[in-house]
Amino acid sequence: MTDAKMKYGRDPEGDGSKAAEADPPAKGIVARRRTSSEIASPTAGWGLDLDDAPVRDAEFEDVVRRMLELVGEDPDREGLLRTPQRVANALTWLTRGYEAEVKDVVGNAIFEETHENMVLVRDIDLYSLCEHHMLPFFGRAHVAYIPDGKIVGLSKLPRIVDVFARRLQVQERLTEQIAQAIQDVLQPRGVGVVIEANHLCMMMRGVEKQNSRTITSALRGAFRTDAKTREEFLYLAHNSPMR
Ligand SMILES: [Zn+2]
Repeated sequence: MTDAKMKYGRDPEGDGSKAAEADPPAKGIVARRRTSSEIASPTAGWGLDLDDAPVRDAEFEDVVRRMLELVGEDPDREGLLRTPQRVANALTWLTRGYEAEVKDVVGNAIFEETHENMVLVRDIDLYSLCEHHMLPFFGRAHVAYIPDGKIVGLSKLPRIVDVFARRLQVQERLTEQIAQAIQDVLQPRGVGVVIEANHLCMMMRGVEKQNSRTITSALRGAFRTDAKTREEFLYLAHNSPMR
């Protein structure tokens, strides 16, 4: 594990155990046979079908085929014939965050700026997969920071969210990783991230009320130390006009 990866981990105990657990799986990255760029992004016309990838992954498709058998299906029936290919493609595409790094996403979109007030991008659509069940959780992220001489192009904030959301995740770690990435990139006076999400692994099993949302936050710098800043951010984040 590299230091760069380590620092994105959650480590409330300070003993490194959580950070190690939180680290993106290096083994998985090595095992990754192809990149999502080999799979075309789905377009509206495709409906639910993720189209053929130019490069097939026979091993991945075999595993999905076996999963179909284990759930009691016949992988040779007509409707399932291309399912292993589609599932392999979909999972590769939905976990493309493993191929992305914040520094590449941000590029040179960092600018000197004396603006000293809070910058907030609210209601960033978020789709991720829970690492416990590999089922989707989805919702919105609200991301804010207070610049200290540097700002980042606003369109980059949703892309930073995606770098971490498009991996297997737990919502708590995802929230922390986004906050830490912005901290590292901008060294701002403070960072605040709130994520509100619905988890299909709970909803579909009826574990929680169908409409219960999980809310997590990660605060750095002034958002942590200054009550007024924190309140302003949480007020703005939680009073979305979209609901
Ligand atoms: Zn889950």
